[in-house]
Amino acid sequence: MDIPRIFNITESAHRIHNPITPDKLATLGAALRLEAGTRVLDLGSGSGEMLCTWARDHGIVGTGVDMSRLFSEQAQRRAEELGVADRVAFIHGDAAGYVAGEKADVAACVGATWIGGGVAGTIGLLARSLRAGGVILIGEPYWRQLPPSEEVAKGCLAGAVADFLVLPELLASFGRLGYDVVEMVLADQDGWDRYEAAKWLTMRRWLEAHPGDELAAEVRAQLTSEPVRYATYTREYLGWGVFALMAR
Ligand code: SAH
Repeated sequence: MDIPRIFNITESAHRIHNPITPDKLATLGAALRLEAGTRVLDLGSGSGEMLCTWARDHGIVGTGVDMSRLFSEQAQRRAEELGVADRVAFIHGDAAGYVAGEKADVAACVGATWIGGGVAGTIGLLARSLRAGGVILIGEPYWRQLPPSEEVAKGCLAGAVADFLVLPELLASFGRLGYDVVEMVLADQDGWDRYEAAKWLTMRRWLEAHPGDELAAEVRAQLTSEPVRYATYTREYLGWGVFALMAR
């Protein structure tokens, strides 16, 4: 079981697979006023940076579930590097339908809401693992500027304009689902650059090391087109944030 190999190639050097930066991840941890022993569940935990740094900085206890074997292995190595391997566990597997045996104080899905079939479905899934009064974290894109056409939305690699909301509407949608938005940390364009531009050097080096690979033509094509596509569309139109929710 694994995610499509192209992501394991282009994001192999990422510690954070999203436009949030290390300092904003730290800001979020502080904003949530995490206490030692807080139990955090993270579906789509990637390379584990959120759980590992929060375990180091706040003494949280965490479980992450991720379908990428590479990212799950990197998460385990990061836990050892930060000296928190006794506080965090990473499960390699499909997080769709995953419900924790022990209820979490914080249940998160940061940039992987397709796991629950969209934002509403993911909130419902996370709620099944959450103690009463706990906090749900959702990391999700929104439109910084509403695309003037479907073509622009597709340029942002969205399926359609309707795939995302503008920020006020996204916040309102959480309310309609019965949740208070109690905190948020938003990415900015520099954060997008760290996520997207970091792929380019990784692709370039991978191509040099794997010229005969079956994905070489696809990676070559992406490296050629991505900088201009990204600067034209994603960087201008797409925002991204992590939203902390508590049931009303
Ligand atoms: N939350 C992490 C990773 C976000 S990227 C971070 O912010 O760094 C999306 C992640 O979802 C990837 O790590 C990918 O491997 C994982 N993923 C995709 N589909 C999944 C599934 N069905 N179950 C578990 N993880 C999945």
